[in-house]
Amino acid sequence: MTPRRTFSIEEQERILATHGYWCHYCKHGLSIDSSTIDHVVPLSAGGTHDFSNLVPACRSCNGSKGHNQAPKTRRDRRGNALRERDIRRAVRAAALLA
Ligand SMILES: [Zn+2]
Repeated sequence: MTPRRTFSIEEQERILATHGYWCHYCKHGLSIDSSTIDHVVPLSAGGTHDFSNLVPACRSCNGSKGHNQAPKTRRDRRGNALRERDIRRAVRAAALLA
């Protein structure tokens, strides 16, 4: 898994500017102080720090997404628990199709 890192002010500015200084999820106006950087594909699911995987988010959206995206056990349609390995494979396959 890609290690977490912090983003410099310049990087935050660039990501905010690319997205029009809006929260990617709720479209709330953001400033450097009120924004966080969110990974569209979470690092835990094979996401990277590439700019194409980064969006600005307000604190409440980033917080709630982090919560929703990290269930204790993910399950497929048949109710079988998914292993990290299977999730990573699915993420890679999706990246190849994109
Ligand atoms: Zn938001």
